[in-house]
Amino acid sequence: MAKVAFIGLGNMGGPMATNLVKAGHTVTVFDLSESACEQLRASGANVAASAAEAATGADYVISMLPAGKHVAATYLGEGGLLARLDANTTVLDCSTIDAATARQVGEAAAALGIGFMDSPVSGGVAAAAAGTLAFMCGGSAQTFEKARQILADMGKNIFHAGPAGAGQVAKGCNNMLLAIHMIGTCEALEMGVRNGLDPKVLSDIMLASSGRNWSLEVYNPYPGVMEKAPASNGYKPGFMVDLMVKDLGLALEIARQCDFDNPMGQLAQELYSQHQQAGNGQMDFSGILQKLQG
Ligand code: NAD
Repeated sequence: MAKVAFIGLGNMGGPMATNLVKAGHTVTVFDLSESACEQLRASGANVAASAAEAATGADYVISMLPAGKHVAATYLGEGGLLARLDANTTVLDCSTIDAATARQVGEAAAALGIGFMDSPVSGGVAAAAAGTLAFMCGGSAQTFEKARQILADMGKNIFHAGPAGAGQVAKGCNNMLLAIHMIGTCEALEMGVRNGLDPKVLSDIMLASSGRNWSLEVYNPYPGVMEKAPASNGYKPGFMVDLMVKDLGLALEIARQCDFDNPMGQLAQELYSQHQQAGNGQMDFSGILQKLQG
């Protein structure tokens, strides 16, 4: 069993750290929020007074933070963790951040001989609690092998996408596609309904045809078609519009950096931003149906 430092105990990090405790690791946590730390203490973790204290002597440092600036501030510079870690430590940043910051932290870690992987996740709070997250990892093959077991204690599917930053690129590609096919699914269903079709019947037809996709399979956006989907529960998240807008912003930045014009991704971002600005940021992203309905 390993000594793990876990930094960032929010909606995702809290249950992920809890699963590491359950797997038998010695987990020391830090979050700016005292109540988040206390919750983890109750689950059996040690609580440190700072990220640096949590990371002292750790085999693995895992972070789950809101954005690139938090990750850069945690790891880089004179006061950052990288300067304090010894070379045996493996750093896994599971936050969803811009690929450029992930590469920057990866390069700084490599210069010090520290193994680093950006390891963003797919799957929301429920998957974090159930330990069924998918990890998309960017780092060396050696670091990936070293990290595989600890990631398996928090997730089900663990992919090596390529070098540092590749995990964030994979996540950006996936979530851009998710936004696009969710909007397309809503459009198809609404067009069918306006022509008198039952959304459940139309969904079954498309599920057995070439329009089949994840939104239809497990997350139908039309109310009443799928009992457990957010659409049938007032679009209570689920996966919030705010997070989708954040992820689309990161995807568009990846496209800009490689000089790639991605019209569908750009349109998806416009539609989701408008939906957010109309006051739906905290609603589930499948509620984009309501925007299309006018
Ligand atoms: P959250 O806002 O619930 O949690 C973030 C936590 O980080 C908070 O507890 C905050 O106090 C803490 N924090 C911020 N700065 C800190 C610092 N310098 N040191 C220590 N702690 C600090 O966010 P979340 O929903 O847990 O998401 C975390 C990351 O996971 C984000 O990058 C998000 O995009 C990604 N993600 C979220 C979901 C989801 O469904 N919530 C799904 C996939 C990926």
